[in-house]
Amino acid sequence: MTPDRAAPPRARYAPSPSGALHLGNLRTALVAWLHCRLQGGVFIVRIDDLDTPRVRPGAEAAILADLRWLGLDWDEGPDVGGPAGPYRQSERLELYGQALEQLRRAGELFPCRCSRSMLAAISAPHGPAPIYPGSCRKSSDWQPRDGRIPSWRWRVPASRLDIVDGVLGPQQWNLPIQIGDVVLRRADGFIAYHLATAVDEVTMAITQVLRGADLLPSTPVQLALIRRLGGPGPRYWHVPLMRNAAGSRLAKRDGSAGLGACRAAGFSAAEVVGRLLASLALTATGQAISAADALDSISLSALDRALFAAGSGSGTPPQP
Ligand code: GLU
Repeated sequence: MTPDRAAPPRARYAPSPSGALHLGNLRTALVAWLHCRLQGGVFIVRIDDLDTPRVRPGAEAAILADLRWLGLDWDEGPDVGGPAGPYRQSERLELYGQALEQLRRAGELFPCRCSRSMLAAISAPHGPAPIYPGSCRKSSDWQPRDGRIPSWRWRVPASRLDIVDGVLGPQQWNLPIQIGDVVLRRADGFIAYHLATAVDEVTMAITQVLRGADLLPSTPVQLALIRRLGGPGPRYWHVPLMRNAAGSRLAKRDGSAGLGACRAAGFSAAEVVGRLLASLALTATGQAISAADALDSISLSALDRALFAAGSGSGTPPQP
């Protein structure tokens, strides 16, 4: 599919089926849905199930049921189909293989045998994630060695990326200096999340990505890949993560409360939606409101302002 800028926006929510959604995930889903629907956009649910060891049986069905219980709907997704399907990453491997082939034929991939521990050993002990030092950049030995295949790394273009995030404002990256060459196919044969996401944004003609702020570091690589694969790239909104009373971010693996606990405590969907929206100062504390009523009563500009205020403190949200 090719994006048509005059067509309605196409936005996606892309949960990983590694467990039930917690309230933070649900707030992001609700906001992504509201933001898309307020623009008359097409809302897509895509299941990020490539990381198979983390996929939990039944999690996808539980996620879709929770989104529906909250009052959200989608035009395209694993259960409703659509023109850009399939909508599970595990069923899109052929597309990822084609993209890898395109990059490999263009000479932009190289085989890399550096392990994580080797890379960690040469970087500052407590610094941010190590930037790949280029050790295997010149290698062209794709054959297995000692029974191990190399990972496939993409030589990132020597360029800068500038975006205006709808929540966090202007962001700039110098790809070789701040990001470095990235693995697109891991040594265990798995397709890397960045490649799958970039291919999906292009082939699903996604024009807007609203997701958690924890994914901001993924954006430069994904956007560079999207542009390399022929897309103009979506606009991004990286929304703040919800925190618990102790101030730490919610995580599926700690069993942070999801809708199961809310339902068991007797909360209605409108009460949960109200609570999620109140946490962004979009409704009054304690107000119950259905997702459909929120769509009628909240304006796009109020939502953009609330997101920008939650992300950057104050001011006027940037215009596209
Ligand atoms: N699957 C990712 C997650 O659940 C989100 C990916 C994305 O929105 O790009 O954290």
